[in-house]
Amino acid sequence: MREQIDTIPVSEAFDEHDECPFCLLERKAEQSAIRYVIGPGASYMEPDVRGVTDEKGFCREHTKKLYNYGNMLGCALILQTHYAGLLEQFKKDAADFEAPPKKSLFAKKQTVTDRWWQRLQEKEHSCYLCEKNEYNMLRYYHTFFAMLRDPEFRQKVESCKGFCMRHFAKLMEVAEDKLPGNLHDWFYPTVLSLMEENLTRVKEDLDWFVGMFDYRQAGADWKNSRDAVARTIQKLKGIYPADPPYKEKK
Ligand SMILES: [Zn+2]
Ligand SMILES: [Zn+2]
Repeated sequence: MREQIDTIPVSEAFDEHDECPFCLLERKAEQSAIRYVIGPGASYMEPDVRGVTDEKGFCREHTKKLYNYGNMLGCALILQTHYAGLLEQFKKDAADFEAPPKKSLFAKKQTVTDRWWQRLQEKEHSCYLCEKNEYNMLRYYHTFFAMLRDPEFRQKVESCKGFCMRHFAKLMEVAEDKLPGNLHDWFYPTVLSLMEENLTRVKEDLDWFVGMFDYRQAGADWKNSRDAVARTIQKLKGIYPADPPYKEKK
């Protein structure tokens, strides 16, 4: 069973007491996907992989991450064929282009410009790495729900620090389909109280951090607030803002 392979990383992510175990899983999966695309295995030299990256391209965030990785020749080769395809399509679209009609009272019918516009929008939202990421994360969610049948794992969940808002939303969505029926009464109250308790804790850390800039607090203990801004951003957005760029090992 595929899910068996994912049991260990999911279990380990819950051992780490991070602000969100799914953020940890996602970071690891994303880094291994970046390494797959542009790392030492040189999958970009395989025509079938290149065919897919040419077709799908990368979103803004992932294009930057590919650049940051530091393999400039790999990056150039991936870009080269993707760019060439894009330029070819652009020339075709530009040749077919008709300027939109001047505004009139007649009902608007679809023009070449609309279809081109649609294609440009699709390209903007298409990303090989985002798709890979979504696929990997869905597998982790499925594994998580399968693992909940084990009382020991449920205890681990009960003692975690909750989830970020982004992964909480996805967790609730996948739960509708994958939560074992007999665990309804355990899952929803547990997760909601974990969320409230831990969102409150991070808010208190952030409040404390802000308070430390008040002169009346001079010399006070920072307590747990030194990294409160980074953890607040993680709870809100499901990212690690303090992470350095993920780079190839030299
Ligand atoms: Zn998260
Ligand atoms: Zn992306």
